[in-house]
Amino acid sequence: MGLLIKNARAVLPDRVTSPLQVLIEDGKIAAIDETISASAPTLDLAGDYLFPGFVDVHIHGGGGADFMDATVDAFETAVKAHLQRGTTTLVPTAMTATRQELLAFLDAFLAFRATSPYGSHTPGVHLEGPYFSGADSKSKGAQKGDVLRSIDLEEVEQLIKAAKGSILRWDAAPELAHSAEFATRLKKEGILCAAAHTDATGFEAQAGFEAGFSHVTHFYNACTAYKKREQLVTAGIVEAAYLDDAVTVELICDGKHIPKHCLHLALKIKGADKVLGITDATRIACTDAKTGMLGSLTNGTEVIVDDGVAKLPDMTSFAGSICTMDRALRVLCADYDVDCVTAAKMLSTTPAAHIGMADTIGSIAPGKTADLVRVTPDFTVKTVIKNGHVC
Ligand SMILES: [Zn+2]
Repeated sequence: MGLLIKNARAVLPDRVTSPLQVLIEDGKIAAIDETISASAPTLDLAGDYLFPGFVDVHIHGGGGADFMDATVDAFETAVKAHLQRGTTTLVPTAMTATRQELLAFLDAFLAFRATSPYGSHTPGVHLEGPYFSGADSKSKGAQKGDVLRSIDLEEVEQLIKAAKGSILRWDAAPELAHSAEFATRLKKEGILCAAAHTDATGFEAQAGFEAGFSHVTHFYNACTAYKKREQLVTAGIVEAAYLDDAVTVELICDGKHIPKHCLHLALKIKGADKVLGITDATRIACTDAKTGMLGSLTNGTEVIVDDGVAKLPDMTSFAGSICTMDRALRVLCADYDVDCVTAAKMLSTTPAAHIGMADTIGSIAPGKTADLVRVTPDFTVKTVIKNGHVC
């Protein structure tokens, strides 16, 4: 049946157009032009922006549900909550947890994919941990200290097997023993290997990148950077990542985790093709709750909401975020003076490439899946279109 979108200021990979028309047929973008005549139903955008649907590759939950709840219902709740805010594709992220909890998470994901009408919104999963620096590390952030552990290659095999090819990305600290074998094993499996919650010096980070770590998780947060301790100065993973052109980074775009100057520095050095915007959203996102649990309801970490961000109750660390991709867009375009084309790259195109889906999603072009978001001039998400259907 199709859909003809009229008067859209489309945010294309190279420019924002003046108002024009976008024709959708069979769930795909069929044409973008000033004059299209088609008998399809119409949607008049009255000059609003048309962004590509947002792609969030680091997200723990929302709408009261965390993916670590490990039920089909929880997956559906979080996916639907973020869909309303413009996220048309997301990669459910597991926290550091016990082996049993991670296996339950993987089982629930596979059941969700197989049975839910929203299963196709999630192409695979992201494991954040459990192999990070020890419980006394400043970089552990809100990861659970009692289940952080050293790299266990036997456990890696079990989780890969249980996931049945669904792990898209796995984060670990590159300074840990066996990190090179870990990276090599993931590469063989086609899983992207990322560095996170790390105490690595510049040299250790560089060795990690040479071994196959190719991305830095929530860059600047739970990361090392230049430091002087007594007579010794060290660089950290921040500087090592800037020096390695092959390395991509992601930033939590809630306006709290990343100062404006750090965001612009990352964009200046790496370019928007290598800088992803993420939410790192927790279950409290898309709710009015002031407290909640990060991770599992029975064995998770208690967090509070303060100043628009989730924190550990003793305020020693941020603990994930309550960000959504529509808020990320507002932070970028309204608060941080990022142009729309760059913001669309950070929130859609670059994360789509990160998960190997740049050919089908992440930008507005003929032949791409019609995952689209109508955004008002003050950067409020007004309408979400998934696979050509208005949600
Ligand atoms: Zn996270």
